[in-house]
Amino acid sequence: MTSETRKPVLTGGCQCGAVRYALYAAPHNVHICHCRMCQKAVGGPFAALAPVKRSDFVWTRGAPAAFASSSLALRNYCRDCGTPLGFRYLDSETISVTLGSLDRPQDARPETQYGVESRVDWLDGVNALPRKVMETEMPAARKAQRVAYQHPDHDTPPDWKPPYTAAR
Ligand SMILES: [Zn+2]
Ligand SMILES: [Zn+2]
Repeated sequence: MTSETRKPVLTGGCQCGAVRYALYAAPHNVHICHCRMCQKAVGGPFAALAPVKRSDFVWTRGAPAAFASSSLALRNYCRDCGTPLGFRYLDSETISVTLGSLDRPQDARPETQYGVESRVDWLDGVNALPRKVMETEMPAARKAQRVAYQHPDHDTPPDWKPPYTAAR
């Protein structure tokens, strides 16, 4: 918990719920980055990032781990579940959060793409691929067995515990 009194514009966190954060201003220059470091850091074809001034950003639960991907930059992630959460240049007043870790990823729309020299060429065809809905792809019996361990897409009380702690 923090003594923060400002109202968050955007909130987010990792998959397990150990680390949560809040943005107290709208992000600027939301972008995707295809560079090889971003691909590796998120384990995907590109990183989608929402930058905000560090003075408008607070880690509201837990503390992320950090990996220095170069002498100039740090990448934050949850040490428990591995979710990539943030990126920042050491000398910058800005921190960027990953769009996928936002509670409402659709609330931040990329305006620019960087690192296009590493862009995977199959991205051009993604929009034309067959579209399937996750819930209809899973057989009913399997769906009935499933217990989700992912933190919900909103802030939870300080005493909230991940469901899997009981299952272990
Ligand atoms: Zn986590
Ligand atoms: Zn990058």
